[in-house]
Amino acid sequence: MTTSEIPAIEIPRGLQPADGRFGCGPSKVRPESVAELAAVSTTYLGTSHRQPTVKRVVGSLRTGLTALFGLPDGWEILLGNGGATYFWDAATFGLITTRSQHLSFGEFSSKFAAAAKAAPHLEAPLVIASDPGTHPRAVADASVDVYALTHNETSTGVAMQLSRPAADGLVLVDATSGAGGLVWDPAQVDVYYFSPQKCFAGDGGLWVAACSPAAIARIEEISAAGRWAPASLDLKIALDNSLQNQTYNTPALATIFLLDLQVQWMLEHGGLAWAAGRSAQSAATLYGWAESRSFASPYVVNPAERSNVVGTIDLEGVDAGVVSKVLRANGIVDTEAYRKLGRNQLRIGMFPAIAPDDVAALTTCVDYVVDALGGQAA
Ligand SMILES: *Cc1c(COP(=O)(O)O)cnc(C)c1O
Repeated sequence: MTTSEIPAIEIPRGLQPADGRFGCGPSKVRPESVAELAAVSTTYLGTSHRQPTVKRVVGSLRTGLTALFGLPDGWEILLGNGGATYFWDAATFGLITTRSQHLSFGEFSSKFAAAAKAAPHLEAPLVIASDPGTHPRAVADASVDVYALTHNETSTGVAMQLSRPAADGLVLVDATSGAGGLVWDPAQVDVYYFSPQKCFAGDGGLWVAACSPAAIARIEEISAAGRWAPASLDLKIALDNSLQNQTYNTPALATIFLLDLQVQWMLEHGGLAWAAGRSAQSAATLYGWAESRSFASPYVVNPAERSNVVGTIDLEGVDAGVVSKVLRANGIVDTEAYRKLGRNQLRIGMFPAIAPDDVAALTTCVDYVVDALGGQAA
């Protein structure tokens, strides 16, 4: 469909959300954070990452995340360049000793499994898959030393409760889209890693990993055993730099600043419970709306597996792609379904930075568009 073919539907300004960004990453960056970044444009941006000005922000970020997640003594926040995708590669070098087990239930969770499978120094991973829109369960297995879980599968809008499958083995959780918007218990996890451009309303290009003492010990152990890793993906090098509030090579200073501000924003308002509560409120609004409409329904059938941070809504009798295009023409962006899922669907980011009132306004706008397209918006 070309621009000229998008139905000319103008959504009344009074119905529209205050902020039209509903993407699942990069996602809404709070304008207040960008203003604060502008305020340090000559004192922070463009200054050395090896000097106190920047190291203080990295330190604040590491302390802030420790408080936000309520991490026990001995946990460390590691960070490095490249985002969660690079962390998968780093983990194949520095965290998996011989064999990993992966829960695969969508685009992102399948990718770490593929990285482990391709690593010539590891045994073939055990992959437990389930249909999109559901999640599988981990199975205790003495042959694996890492269990790889995904807190929130961003491609499908499925979230899972995190629990340790066995007494032995490290639990690695890809929390890229869940961290900061979903609660979790550090007792059930060893590595909780993510990128900043989802719940943390920052920009991409960085990975952050909260690591338990057992995970730190594994990193030290594999490094001491002399396994080769490219320096940029070497978790022992990342560990040593992180402890000094630095990264191995130059990071994007704006990314770190925005991430730190979002962590402080969450802490100021009451911490993770407050941030997760905002997403839970948005989710209740979105799924409740979808269930009450004849043309919409939540894609994830089991309410317990529905994500509070990424909502997927199937549409019937109306083309979701057209709805998204009309919304986009009205400044309401990134409601498109995950392309490879191939469904007639809207996918809505409900990260803590996205106001619950704006999610409610979005549902009103979808009603308006469906009605204007000749559907049954009631
Ligand atoms: C976005 C996302 C990733 C990829 O993050 P990058 O920063 O692009 O590497 C990985 N896992 C999940 C669950 C995601 O949502």
